[in-house]
Amino acid sequence: GASPDSCTTSSHRKNDLPIHGVSETIVGVLGGGQLGRMLCQAASQMAIKVIVLDPVENCPAGALSHCHVVGSYDDSVTVEEFAKRCSVLTFEIEHVNVETLEKLEQRGLDVQPKASTIQIIQDKYLQKVHFSHHGIPLPKFMKIDDPVSAKKAGDLFGYPFMIKSKRLAYDGRGNAVAKREEEISSAVQTLGGYDHGLYVEQWAPFVKELAVIVARGRDESILCYPVVETIHRENICHIVKAPANVPLKIRKLATDVAYKAVSSLEGAGVFAVELFLTEDGQILLNEVAPRPHNSGHHTIESCFTSQYEQHLRAILGLQLGDPSMKTQAAIMYNILGEDEVKYILRCELSPLESQLENKFIKADFSETVTLQLKDGFLETYHGEPGFLLAHQLIGRALGISGATVHWYDKPEMRKQRKMGHITMVGPSMAIVETRLKLMLNPKLLDGH
Ligand code: ATP
Ligand code: MG
Ligand code: MG
Repeated sequence: GASPDSCTTSSHRKNDLPIHGVSETIVGVLGGGQLGRMLCQAASQMAIKVIVLDPVENCPAGALSHCHVVGSYDDSVTVEEFAKRCSVLTFEIEHVNVETLEKLEQRGLDVQPKASTIQIIQDKYLQKVHFSHHGIPLPKFMKIDDPVSAKKAGDLFGYPFMIKSKRLAYDGRGNAVAKREEEISSAVQTLGGYDHGLYVEQWAPFVKELAVIVARGRDESILCYPVVETIHRENICHIVKAPANVPLKIRKLATDVAYKAVSSLEGAGVFAVELFLTEDGQILLNEVAPRPHNSGHHTIESCFTSQYEQHLRAILGLQLGDPSMKTQAAIMYNILGEDEVKYILRCELSPLESQLENKFIKADFSETVTLQLKDGFLETYHGEPGFLLAHQLIGRALGISGATVHWYDKPEMRKQRKMGHITMVGPSMAIVETRLKLMLNPKLLDGH
């Protein structure tokens, strides 16, 4: 982490022309993951200083921030100390301490979006109640406290249904499906039991998942980004296609629902609205994120104003930028972590294996490697070590026109962890899809 010294800012630069008047403004961000990292990248371009609070010493945003304070964004004392140094406080994660934010707001700190918004959103059940009060279409839902209420949900909604944790959910961790009554108890178990705070959602029979990034300025002006399609793999966002290939009528409806949802919340910033499109052309809201979002990564390369720049403009009270696309089509592909790399490092190091310690491997490996562990821990390992795979993917992307690589530099790879992403842009969706296929299937590149 940065020492107090390295975090001191000199505010006496000579001949400093305050072009947008914010270059001495300090934006504080709670959380230092990839979203924070990309926020720092946008901030650097506009000479806006971002300081981040994150407990992980070498978190993705740390190295690119003006200053990284190592500490918990859920600890009130730490957040209060951090807030003293901020002109405006914002988030890249909603799982923060709301009581502290409310206290800080009452003391006059500029928190964007508002603590009330974070409070509604961080509890998914409360979020559903809020949006249903505002007339937003949602899958049916109800709170469950015990086996009797869970069974009642099954009787009312039918099977399968989705059981969700009210709090601390991300990347599908916090969701469990009950396909029939007998599965309720094991599904509840995997989520930590009834005391953990659970609710049930009716199954949304979606044909596509859509998302809309909505930006709201301090003057309450609202701009919507083009509707995108999100494709999930095991509950994790994996591919985003922009724009979504749906009829204009659906795009309008999705945008209207997203606009209405964000209008019901307080504060400035960008918000991501996740939606389900059903077979009969209905749009149902899944959830809202009060921050930049995975479904908006593509905007860095494909829109006139990226969601990250837009978030900064919004919270700082600058004019919002044009959210429309400057390229015909874009696809974002998430690089998800594979098996634990530590496993591999515990093996007897041969020349091949020793290179795995290095993130960037020079040798040309086959798709699958077999490793033998020495300590009897595991005899052989068949598979595709994650970094190796990521490296190969990145290597191929570098050779494809219209592809841009984003590597988050996370300290560790874990299975299903978002490690980086690649955005492809091009003159049509068909061309971008072909480019994606080329990247994913090297045999096509080699001409085999
Ligand atoms: P995120 O990383 O987006 O915050 P999360 O952990 O909050 O994810 P959800 O967005 O609630 O999880 O759900 C993850 C995915 O699970 C959805 O994108 C969708 O594919 C599926 N899903 C969620 N709710 C339902 C539902 N009611 N019916 C059918 N599928 C659902
Ligand atoms: Mg979520
Ligand atoms: Mg979600």
